[in-house]
Amino acid sequence: MNKTEQLYEGKAKKVFATENPEYVIVSYKDDATALDGLKRGTILGKGAINNRMSNYLMKLLERSGVPTHFVEELNDRETVVRKVQIVPLEVIIRNISAGSFAKRYGVEEGIVFAEPTIEFSYKNDDLHDPLINSYHALALGLATKEEIETIKSMAFRVNEVLKEYFSTLGVKLVDFKLEFGRTADGKIVLADEISPDTCRFWDAKTNEKLDKDRFRRDMGGVEDAYREMMHRVFGE
Ligand code: UDP
Repeated sequence: MNKTEQLYEGKAKKVFATENPEYVIVSYKDDATALDGLKRGTILGKGAINNRMSNYLMKLLERSGVPTHFVEELNDRETVVRKVQIVPLEVIIRNISAGSFAKRYGVEEGIVFAEPTIEFSYKNDDLHDPLINSYHALALGLATKEEIETIKSMAFRVNEVLKEYFSTLGVKLVDFKLEFGRTADGKIVLADEISPDTCRFWDAKTNEKLDKDRFRRDMGGVEDAYREMMHRVFGE
């Protein structure tokens, strides 16, 4: 499959049309942004790692009954995915307190929850992705009631599968962000990516951060953390 015109360029990916109107090609970049776009940089090798890891996890999820946009990996950085209309919600699942949750509620990082939590942000750069609840999403017409229910149950299912998988690699899945899309025939599928950009991964023994927090927080060792996650997933 070949790229035709570029449809979109985001912070971490470009999206291209193909000859097939049902498919697009995503191309992962090494560019990184954080803190609502205020912080910009490059994480060498990130594009290829995120592409390969995300595809691997999407395939694992498909086998576990979660429909995804994944079609075919073309090369290190490029993947064919189903063309979807993105539901403008960032769906965040948390197993352990960290980041904005710890800040918002004034608690330390590292509290293991008895049950995972879910929250939604309205994907809107001008408004800085405000936190909303499912009633707000419905009122704003971002998704139907049925779609929101589907998204919630798919997100918790993703958490079960990924938490279990990462535990076998000696990694705690602290929290992560998902995005969902609507296919042309109105089906909800998991879209976007699942990678160290969008998940918090902590080493199970040492709690060392193996994700984008090293970039957000200027901790150094960013590339090494991404490579370590690549190593745990692919053994290379
Ligand atoms: N996240 C993301 N994109 C965003 C915001 C959050 O991928 O625009 C991910 C982030 O990597 C983390 C989880 O969602 O795994 C929860 O992030 P949080 O709300 O704590 O926000 P942060 O502290 O990153 O601002």
